[in-house]
Amino acid sequence: MSWNLLENLLGSWSFRPQHASRRKHSQSLEDASCLIRIESLEARQVPTALTIQIDYSYDTNQFFDTQAKKDLLQSVADMYSARITDDLLAINPSGNNTWNALFTNPATGTQTSVHNLVVPTDTIVLYAGGRDLSQGTLGVGGPGGYSGVPNSFFTTVDQRGQAGAAGSHPTDFGPWGGSITFDTVGTDWYFGTTPPDPSSPQYDFMSVAMHEIGHVLGFGTSDSFHTFVSNGTFTGPKADAEFGGKPQLASDRSHWVDGLKDGNQETSMDPSIAAGTRKLFTALDWAALDDIGWQTTPITVPIVTLPGATSTYTRGGPAVAVDPTATFANPDSLSLSGAKLTLGLTMNAGSYDFLSIQTGNGITKSGANIKYNGVTIGTYSNGSRSTQFTLKFNSKATDAAVQACLENLAFSTTSKKAGTLNRTVSIALTNIEGVNTVAATKVVKVA
Ligand SMILES: [Zn+2]
Repeated sequence: MSWNLLENLLGSWSFRPQHASRRKHSQSLEDASCLIRIESLEARQVPTALTIQIDYSYDTNQFFDTQAKKDLLQSVADMYSARITDDLLAINPSGNNTWNALFTNPATGTQTSVHNLVVPTDTIVLYAGGRDLSQGTLGVGGPGGYSGVPNSFFTTVDQRGQAGAAGSHPTDFGPWGGSITFDTVGTDWYFGTTPPDPSSPQYDFMSVAMHEIGHVLGFGTSDSFHTFVSNGTFTGPKADAEFGGKPQLASDRSHWVDGLKDGNQETSMDPSIAAGTRKLFTALDWAALDDIGWQTTPITVPIVTLPGATSTYTRGGPAVAVDPTATFANPDSLSLSGAKLTLGLTMNAGSYDFLSIQTGNGITKSGANIKYNGVTIGTYSNGSRSTQFTLKFNSKATDAAVQACLENLAFSTTSKKAGTLNRTVSIALTNIEGVNTVAATKVVKVA
């Protein structure tokens, strides 16, 4: 089987009863004085990074049986913390202000309650674990519910100071947290930090964790998400601006339609993932979280520029750099691990054309490996008329290393009989933490 569902439909809806009760309570709380008080609190606070506090106390099936697996989940939580700021009120039970946090126990799938859970400011609690999920299901995730909350404590537990989370068509979401569960039987997991090999039969844990935490934060599971569901599409303004239209939703109305891409990158929050694939949040996934009510920092797309003069190649001579003054800017310091650099011919490609990378500027080759200042940063394969040159970076690739590779991308022909039409080549970097560079093109003259 080449793909797997991220979860069955019931999974992400495990808290429907809590949703229903929340709506009912919210409506009774729409008095003006209450809302004004909350707004004045928000105005005082400077949004800070969201903390995701992971709790393994219900991982009684020991899915997270090594520190490395816990570290990997933490690294995914950190990706959210790096892009989300908000100002969530603490839930500090005391006196009459008591409550029960309700969530799906990861190990059993049954509803579990914790009495008087303490949730710090700007923090959500994430219960993580595993159990044998149904065939073809990799993970389940969703926000928790609550019970036994007195009126005096209600807005704190239900909305955590997010005024927009009240009402019948909310535009914000302030959960205490929730739970995520991973399949323990029958799924071949990949627990690597670098993306899996495309030929691998394993399923990428980081990708599934990213998806399930997305559900905990309200994607497909919050009232504010459903505020923007209309005719099977998502109408949130940030998402629609990013997508250039209204993205189609899956029939469960909790995911993008299967296979939906943002640019040429498949979204994280569609319902399935192929083996050997890493899918992190695309700009569209982030934009939807913003519409749900999280204050997200957009990803700045890395940029490749080719400012140099047109290069001229003499047939039969040594290869010529496409642009020795090429630059690479990565203002968000996105990880380049797993990113792919391509050089392809888009106009007037000829039978004898050859695309490769030169040594120099710190770049050396060893077999299929590329080294920068002696450190292997990736593997490459040469290109031709119909095949792109590709260079896949590993976790050692730095911005400087990528720039050196860009400067060294080269054109040549394998015969003096090659045609002399101007070639147009295209250079792009793809799969950089869910965003791609815009392809840069350059003309190479052939004499
Ligand atoms: Zn899902």
